[in-house]
Amino acid sequence: MQDTALYVVATPIGNLQDMTPRAVDVLNQVAVIAAEDTRHSARLMAHFNIKTPLISVHEHNERQRVERILQYLSQGESVALISDAGTPVISDPGFVLVRAVREAGFRVVPVPGCVAFVTALCASGLPSDRFSFEGFPPAKSQARQQFYRERETLPHTLVFYESPHRILASLTDMAEVFGPQRRAAVARELTKTFETIHCAPLAELLDWMAADSNQQRGEFVLMVEGAVPKPADQLDDEALRVLDILLAELSVKQSSALAAQITGIKKKLLYQAALERS
Ligand code: SAM
Repeated sequence: MQDTALYVVATPIGNLQDMTPRAVDVLNQVAVIAAEDTRHSARLMAHFNIKTPLISVHEHNERQRVERILQYLSQGESVALISDAGTPVISDPGFVLVRAVREAGFRVVPVPGCVAFVTALCASGLPSDRFSFEGFPPAKSQARQQFYRERETLPHTLVFYESPHRILASLTDMAEVFGPQRRAAVARELTKTFETIHCAPLAELLDWMAADSNQQRGEFVLMVEGAVPKPADQLDDEALRVLDILLAELSVKQSSALAAQITGIKKKLLYQAALERS
């Protein structure tokens, strides 16, 4: 191992064979391992026969722990950061620590490995040339629907984490907001015995999951394909609905201009339709 540093070390998301040899080396060589849950990580340490002491760094004590970790680093001792599974900092604690360590002028060295959303996406069959990782949707249905609505027209693949308690409700909200025909994928229990990756239009995916309670157990990544942009030279039902509302109050010219702004459809087309409907 090189200089004194905070090593951000990825650990497996299920299958222990996904632990990298470099991760084992680093965890053996640092002075201390900052772990999200020391009891959970003790099992990983035992499996790889790593004897390095563990200290806890979680959501509730991360700020206090920063000082202690900076002390180790200023004494020339390296520290590793791990989480319960996958890459620390990704929907896991560590951001506050990493930023503080960098600001204090110490090196932060990533030791890459598993990330659940990359693992899911690469096998989903959904487009991955552009995607965004959106983390966990809100727990309450109203906020979750709003959260999905804000992302409804994004043109790239969207990737979410979801808990087993909410997977069915979340998928139901998704089908409602993104529409039953939008393609989506569920990746469950990745790298584990019951790994399942299923890709289908949202309505089908929902039926498939609702029909089998086993498919609602475990850990999940949800993915949905991006929106297909509406062609600007094609009128659809939604555009005509908007136009009719405007025509009830405004002139043909004003209605078609506003409808063009709202829908993104060409003004000329809307003007023609407005003339026919007024
Ligand atoms: N830091 C982790 C990473 O690199 O992916 C994510 C931690 S986050 C607290 C835990 C969530 O990740 C789970 O609720 C689930 O959505 C997803 N996840 C973790 N392991 C998974 C697995 N084996 N299969 C599917 N999803 C998984």
